[in-house]
Amino acid sequence: MGMPQRIAVPATLILKNARVWTVDPRLPQAQAVAIRGNTVAAVGRDEEMEPLIGPGTRVLDLRGQLLLPGFHDAHTHWVWALLREWGGFSLYGVRTVPEAQRIVAAFAREHPDADWLLGSRWDANRFQGGHWPTRADLDAVVPDRPVAIRDLDGHSAWVNSAALRRLGYHRDAPDPPGGRIVRDADGEPTGILLENAHEALPSPPVPPPERFRALLREGAAALNRLGLTSLCNNGLPPGGFEEIVRLAEEGGLTVRLSEWPSLEALEEAQAMRRRVRESEHVRVVGLKAMLDGVFSAHTAWMLEPYADAPGNTGFPLIDPETLFLQALRADAAGFQVILHTIGDRAVREALNLLARVQERNGRRDSRHRLEHIERAHPDDLPRFARMGVIASMMPQHATSHVEDYVRSRLGEARSATAYPWRALLEQGAHLCFGSDWPAIDLVAPNPLEQLYVAVTRATGPDHRGAPWHAEQALSAAEAIRCYTLEGAYAEFTEDRKGSITPGKLADLCVLSQDILEPPPERILEAEVTLTVFDGEVVYRKE
Ligand SMILES: [Zn+2]
Repeated sequence: MGMPQRIAVPATLILKNARVWTVDPRLPQAQAVAIRGNTVAAVGRDEEMEPLIGPGTRVLDLRGQLLLPGFHDAHTHWVWALLREWGGFSLYGVRTVPEAQRIVAAFAREHPDADWLLGSRWDANRFQGGHWPTRADLDAVVPDRPVAIRDLDGHSAWVNSAALRRLGYHRDAPDPPGGRIVRDADGEPTGILLENAHEALPSPPVPPPERFRALLREGAAALNRLGLTSLCNNGLPPGGFEEIVRLAEEGGLTVRLSEWPSLEALEEAQAMRRRVRESEHVRVVGLKAMLDGVFSAHTAWMLEPYADAPGNTGFPLIDPETLFLQALRADAAGFQVILHTIGDRAVREALNLLARVQERNGRRDSRHRLEHIERAHPDDLPRFARMGVIASMMPQHATSHVEDYVRSRLGEARSATAYPWRALLEQGAHLCFGSDWPAIDLVAPNPLEQLYVAVTRATGPDHRGAPWHAEQALSAAEAIRCYTLEGAYAEFTEDRKGSITPGKLADLCVLSQDILEPPPERILEAEVTLTVFDGEVVYRKE
């Protein structure tokens, strides 16, 4: 940029003496950023900002720290996570039945009036070495009221006998479409429900509006402490959308939120989109559906059978023809279509279906998205760029469960081409990153842990294991781009945010370490020291 004019309107905030990494190829690096109101006014050298300093300008010296665009988490279930935490108990980190029983019993005692006792974040893969517990384990502590505990990735649940009775899941009950009631050798339900079989479970209780908004405010502040300023959210309780919009209008929501209504609910989504047409805080651009399940439960839909379950290729959670018709209508109404696809068959069918949608409705800048893409057949990788379909992936999903089940489910040859981030980038695809919070084995949706995995492919829940197919790793700069600008692109806002560019929204974060420089361990050591949202400092580490 050139020198700002001498008569320029003063900035409200200037961040100087920084290593600015803009994620804007026109000016990749700089030293200082000036902000006016909620907008980036100038990017350049420290001395170039001097004419913008007025009596009311706040100037912060960043002492050489790294200044980045605020992080964008492209895939979360953030609001449900807040509600589950508020209205239920968590089994995060719990590995044994006695430990789980203590937590369930305590929650039951503290909530004598609750009709259902609802838990979440049970790690089915690590709990007692991956052996499923039973309803009897829960009956032993709560015999009289229904208990239901959803697993970490939301694809199975562990329930007691009272819950099975309440759901009508008795010995002779058929499996619901797209779901399985796991049964023992005698045909009795064991207390494990897969996929759509736990759809009938009640949602977590919804707090009164005042409390709900407080939860959102506190939740957003927690995201700001992680450097997050934008996220996509999947799923809201009844009335939740209006509360979020009102909170944003009052200036109380310190993240930009893109909500994904269900692909089945087109009319509702249109009303939501109209409600926020003018908003830069809440958006509705994409509609989501699930095509398949997950590797852990053998429910991801595969082209070939699982290596450890001969004859089993998983299954679609919805009839693909029904899904096609829903996608066709949503696309015609100008919505992006967002499809959960984990298995290689699901990825292929989703691309086929979106190609038919393009054929029927004509091609436009639709930016349809596939979520997860944990395994894609190599033949399908070039189709993303060709069709303009975005690959939305979760780095930490790739590596945290490699040794638990990915290798055994897929076998050596297929797992070598799983989670193909670099291959997709090399094929010209748009790739954005998210956490899938809270369906993730981490204590928080921390972008830095995701970036570390993206750059190292380090395995294990604590990222201390050997790298897994490191040829698919990204550079730090590429990974940062996937967590900022590509997230904005995936919701059609790349002209408003995602890079530090004059005229764009001032959403920024500062890291204590220069994570662009090796070794990659700096990424794990780095701390967020400052977060700016909408031009305001919303977090500053003391
Ligand atoms: Zn998800």
